[in-house]
Amino acid sequence: MNSGKYEFLRVRRRFRQPLVTARGTVESVDRILLRTETNGEIGYGEISPWPTFPTETIDQAREILRSAQGSLSHLTSIVAADKNSFPCLRSALSSCAAWSQIKTFAGKIKCAGLLTAPNVAGAQAKWGEGFTTLKLKINAQTPLTEVEAILSAAPSEATLRLDANGSLDLNAARTWADFVRGEKQIEFMEQPLAVGHAGYASLGHNKIALDESFLAPGGMNWSGPIVVKPALVGDWREFRQWRASHVGQIIYSSAFETAIGRQAALWFAAQEPSTLAQGFDTIGLFENDARDYHNSGPIVAGRSDLDWTKIWKEIS
Ligand SMILES: [Mg+2]
Repeated sequence: MNSGKYEFLRVRRRFRQPLVTARGTVESVDRILLRTETNGEIGYGEISPWPTFPTETIDQAREILRSAQGSLSHLTSIVAADKNSFPCLRSALSSCAAWSQIKTFAGKIKCAGLLTAPNVAGAQAKWGEGFTTLKLKINAQTPLTEVEAILSAAPSEATLRLDANGSLDLNAARTWADFVRGEKQIEFMEQPLAVGHAGYASLGHNKIALDESFLAPGGMNWSGPIVVKPALVGDWREFRQWRASHVGQIIYSSAFETAIGRQAALWFAAQEPSTLAQGFDTIGLFENDARDYHNSGPIVAGRSDLDWTKIWKEIS
């Protein structure tokens, strides 16, 4: 019996300009690309933690990959032994297992435009590109008037989302929440408070979305919108089971993956019919490293025409 084998590559991707979030500046990210082979069937996956999300680190994932010494059955049994660990590695293994479907995905997905330093000119440029939903990064210093100015300039069909990445205190979060709830063109505010902040209980669920605090099923019980990053969510079958009974909006989002993780994440997002714009406006932010093969823009698409064997060889 062939129980399967794997190999992996660690790659570093440098942002063209350091990515500024409310939690700090990110200059580069490391990813581990995984290639599995089981009975001649090839699968690809990507381990792509994001610095401020409570998952395993790249180094921790690499240790497990080294210790299992290329045996896929050994690797899966190590990961299965601790249900609450290694969500990124679990996601990557889920991608490998579903790769025969993932590689054929060429569907289209509506996408929200990302503005990391929101201002009216930046928003107008995104509307000009055809985006109708924009996601604005905010923090404790962001003047509410800046968002009001963007709203005043917004086309009538446009909507906004705000993402604080856990940077607000409870008072500021309440002020922003009241503002967001009073504005029809704002869909929600994402992660106003830090992970585990007790203030979520009093802030209420209406128009408050969780991202960092959710991560994977088994986290918080939340009726507001939830942002799910396929790369961080853990075992994909477990997520689907949870999703089948969860009532509420889910927005799927990139974790700044290479083409391997992006193809998988787009496929994953498309498993659920949705009219919401998804979070995949993350192309073009890295230095040109020949690891992006998908388009960006208000409509993004999977690619069934790529030669993944060739891409793997080029990366390695
Ligand atoms: Mg977020």
